[in-house]
Amino acid sequence: MLVVMKAQATPEQIQAVCEYIEKLGFRAHPLPGAQRTAIGITGNKGEVDRGNLEELSGVAEVIRVSKAYKLASRDVKEEDTVIRFPGTDATIGGRDLAVIAGPCSIENRDQAFAIAEQVAAAGAQFFRGGAFKPRTSPYTFQGLGLEALRIMAEIRERYGLRIVTEALDNESLDLVAEWADVIQIGARNMQNFSLLKRTGRFRKPVLLKRGLSATLEEFLMSAEYIMSEGNYEVILCERGVRTFADHTRYTLDLSVVPAIQRLSHLPILVDPSHGTGKRDSVLPMARAAVAAGADGILVEVHNQPDKALSDGPQSIYPDQFVRLMDELQQIAPVVARHLPRGIHVTAAAG
Ligand code: PEP
Ligand code: MN
Repeated sequence: MLVVMKAQATPEQIQAVCEYIEKLGFRAHPLPGAQRTAIGITGNKGEVDRGNLEELSGVAEVIRVSKAYKLASRDVKEEDTVIRFPGTDATIGGRDLAVIAGPCSIENRDQAFAIAEQVAAAGAQFFRGGAFKPRTSPYTFQGLGLEALRIMAEIRERYGLRIVTEALDNESLDLVAEWADVIQIGARNMQNFSLLKRTGRFRKPVLLKRGLSATLEEFLMSAEYIMSEGNYEVILCERGVRTFADHTRYTLDLSVVPAIQRLSHLPILVDPSHGTGKRDSVLPMARAAVAAGADGILVEVHNQPDKALSDGPQSIYPDQFVRLMDELQQIAPVVARHLPRGIHVTAAAG
């Protein structure tokens, strides 16, 4: 169910409706929009009696939401969600394209700083790097853990870049939520429902990667798990799905971009690095992603890909990243977007 408030409803009226919903034993999710606030109701088994709700002051109407995902749906919030990063001009969603760049893994301080310096100079606003790595083999590099988080915090301090890194499990989630600006939930954890719920209890943006064989509905239901706990800042990320095709590591499903944008207000990024697994495919598919209307890209960049401890073959060189940024800047206006170059930090991160 969805309670649509009148455009002129006061914060007190919105608050009173939320309290009424919670008193009934349900959960209220106020979602402010450009024109009016809508309040999603979850936790109800069947129909909520709409009669009394419609009588409350400031309420315009009460609507039934028939889709399985509710808070992620455009039925609940018509306009695109724009995620802001306090103290900076960076956003994810909306007109400005978001570029998240960096190595697959933080390997050591020198490597991380060398790459960060180059992606910052090329105009990225977000730096990525794995601290806790979900590796296919238990014998390969598993990440530096807390040490990597500390290095990335120093990088944020030095270059202003906002930090995106993956949480693998409950333990790493607490650390990532403490140190990073965006909590990444990897493809392999897309349906780790207890981890999703726990992630939803933080008030920090979450980058949710599509599962290796997840349908669009499953993908949105996973976003719903996070949102149902009160964290509405979810960024979706297409990263390729498993198909019979073997010319690339996965098959990058760009058609999911317009499909998601039709159904959901959440931002959708594209990861052409994991999506193809091949360095030579990364630039063309990144260009295509932006042309298809994606809200930005996540791309792996390494200064010495042949020596990388993970995902070297798909990591682009820093000079390729510069070229990519120049290309995206040209494509952006064709699809009514803008590529900001560089991040402006106006205050210390809150
Ligand atoms: C990553 O971004 O480094 C990663 C492991 O991605 P995915 O979960 O999409 O495989
Ligand atoms: Mn990787």
